[in-house]
Order: sequence, then C-alpha cells, then structure tokens
Amino acid sequence: MSAIIIDGKEISKKVKEEVRLEVEKLKSQGIPPKLTVVLVGDDPASQVYVRNKEKSARKVGIESDTIRLPAETSEEELVELVKKLNDDESVNGILVQLPLPDHISKDRIIETISPMKDADGFHPYNLGRLMAGLETVIPCTPNGIMRMLDEIGFELKGKNAVVIGRSVIVGKPVAQLLLSRHATVTTCHSRTKNLEFYTKNADVLVVAVGRPEMIRGEQIKEGAVVIDVGINRKEDGKLVGDVHFESASEVASWITPVPGGVGPMTVAMLLYNTVYLTKKQHGIV
Ligand code: NDP
Repeated sequence: MSAIIIDGKEISKKVKEEVRLEVEKLKSQGIPPKLTVVLVGDDPASQVYVRNKEKSARKVGIESDTIRLPAETSEEELVELVKKLNDDESVNGILVQLPLPDHISKDRIIETISPMKDADGFHPYNLGRLMAGLETVIPCTPNGIMRMLDEIGFELKGKNAVVIGRSVIVGKPVAQLLLSRHATVTTCHSRTKNLEFYTKNADVLVVAVGRPEMIRGEQIKEGAVVIDVGINRKEDGKLVGDVHFESASEVASWITPVPGGVGPMTVAMLLYNTVYLTKKQHGIV
C-alpha cells in the first residue's frame, strides 16, 4: 500500500480563504480583527514562527502587530503588558510566543491573558470548556488536526485513536477532541510500556513527541491514518517528523508529511481563532 498524502498546505489555504472572507465581512461591519503577538527574547525558531504568523495574518486581512521585548523583561513587566492588551479594545487576539525565558512563569502569563482574547486557546478556562464539551476557542494544532481528518472524510465514530504525547498544547486537547467525536482514545507517553501494542491497534495515530522518526511502518496498523505533529531537525539539517515517513507510507492509508502537514494547519487555525474571538467579543457567535 502507498499512503495518500494529507496536504496540509492545500487544506490550510482553504481555511485561510474561509478566514479571509470572514474578515472581509467583519471589516464591512466596521470590525477589523486584530491579533497582537508578544515575543520575549531572541530565540531564532520563535522569531521565524512569529514572522510567519504576522505575514499570514496580514495576507487574510487581519491586522497584526508584534511586540518584541528583550530577554531580560521581568515577569511583572510582561504581566502588565498582557493586562494592557486585555483592556485594549482594538486588540481581539493575544498570543504570547512560547517558550518564554526561564525566569518567567508560562502558566502565570497564560492565565493573565483574557480567555476572551486567548488566540492559542491555552487558557485553563478555555481548556476546561473544551473538556466539558462546551463550545470554545480550541488550541490551534489540535484543531488543525481535526480539520485534516474532516477534509479526508474520515469517520471517527467507534474507531481506535491513539495519541502519543500528552502536552497541554497538543496531546491532551487532541485526545479530547477525538473523544468528543466518539473515537475510543488511548493516550501514550514516555512511561507507556509496550508502545507498539497501542500503535498497532490504532485506526488513527497522532504522534506528538518531538523525537525524529521514532515511529516506523512496522509499528503501524495496515490502513491507518497517521498524523505526524513532530518537527525535528536532523544533524544533516533535514526537517523530519516523529514518524519515519517512507516506511509508514507503505502501511498507512493516509499520512501527513513533514514539512507541509500539520505545521501550516497550526498557523491557519490561529487566524481562524482570531476571527472566532473577534466575533465572540461582538456577540456575533
Ligand atoms: P512536549 O515535549 O510538551 O511533549 C512531548 C510528549 O511526548 C510528552 O507527553 C512525553 O511524555 C512524550 N514522550 C516523550 N518521549 C516519549 C517516548 N519515548 N515514547 C512515548 N512518548 C514520549 O511536546 P509538544 O507536545 O509541545 O510537541 C511535540 C512535537 O510536536 C515537537 O516536535 C514539537 O516541535 C511539535 N509541534 C509541532 C507543531 C506544529 O504546528 N506542527 C505545534 C506544536 C508542537 P511525558 O509526558 O511522559 O514526558
């Protein structure tokens, strides 16, 4: 078998076009959506991500500005800035780029962002609503994964879904979303014994670990849908996922590539979230 590639670039274009039309509509009603990104320090990967987000936002008509702060910024200063953005009516979405320098508590900053402006969907209030099955802003990567599954018309009801990784930004919310769609969900992590037992039974396998090519074709069920969230740079500079693409494609029915899979979806869903929050703030949804 040779798996069909789930083209994240193409699907993300579709999402962005939907967002662009929504933005146009909002603007015509005098509501221009605005996303403010805060970047602390000079982590090179974060710089690239932030530039990407800014560019993508502008392309769909979302006003976007990035506040760049030095690495020495104190936690108090950052808290004050976030509070100011919470109070600023022209700002609809706030995103504080992670990771933050070690002396700043990520959790405190995330909790300071107003849940109504939480573009990443990481605020415990929004995660709680997701857990409770209530409508809310959803973390971008998990939401992007669900959109990909929908685009290929994959019916989750009654299927075995296995998620490897239990982070708050990917693993846990994606497991919750799969569960809400009636899949039988297993979450694996670093202490899981006999990982292959689970992966071999997965109709849908989501891998979000951060270990280059750790899952190979031999560990995958014939015909499974494989979603590779990992982004890893190998020593030779090549970008690879958490799944060994060549061997996995021989077994899976559908697979996401790295790059060009989940990554572009994450950015598209951030724009989607910004529009969602804008509408929510104006009582449109
Ligand atoms: P975290 O480091 O927060 O979580 C990794 C998870 O993997 C943990 O739950 C950990 O278990 C688990 N894990 C580690 N080693 C193993 C192992 N040997 N077997 C099974 N599970 C293991 O990572 P993130 O969730 O933030 O990100 C995961 C990957 O996805 C990274 O490569 C990241 O770069 C990428 N990513 C990509 C995005 C995109 O847009 N494409 C967006 C976000 C992330 P434990 O909890 O026990 O420690």
